[in-house]
Amino acid sequence: MAQVYLGIGTNLGDRKKNISTAVELLKKHNITVTQISSIIETEPVGYTEQDKFLNGCLAIETTLDPHTLLKTLKLIEKTMGRTETVVNGPRIIDLDILTYDDIKVDTDELTIPHPRMKEREFVLTPLKELNPELVDQLNDARF
Ligand code: ADP
Ligand code: MG
Repeated sequence: MAQVYLGIGTNLGDRKKNISTAVELLKKHNITVTQISSIIETEPVGYTEQDKFLNGCLAIETTLDPHTLLKTLKLIEKTMGRTETVVNGPRIIDLDILTYDDIKVDTDELTIPHPRMKEREFVLTPLKELNPELVDQLNDARF
């Protein structure tokens, strides 16, 4: 079983419901959700002419390899009605892989640890709540 942290975000529609729907869909895909952080309201980053986000982090356990997990997350986003959006643009749901055990991935479609997580308070704050040691380790060489 891999220990994985996901970032979750939403700024369209019923945002609280979107988060609980995503958690239910993860469970339906045989992904064990072990922890859910506090969900915080955050100002949009990058593309600022849009509504505020709800952001949080999830700790999950899965047997899926990183690429299969990414495919599953994209499928869940699509199932929930996410259409093609610009990076940092408005979205019903965004599920990002933050860390996957302590492995590194660097391909065109997947980078782990998530390349922008260290600069994002809306990721670091909820992640710290779930695993403060992990956040401290993010600046270590192995990450
Ligand atoms: P963002 O989450 O940065 O706003 P998207 O959700 O639109 O952007 O994702 C854009 C692409 O980022 C995805 O199609 C995916 O292939 C790629 N990607 C690279 N690394 C990751 C990761 N760690 N988690 C999720 N997606 C990733
Ligand atoms: Mg994403």
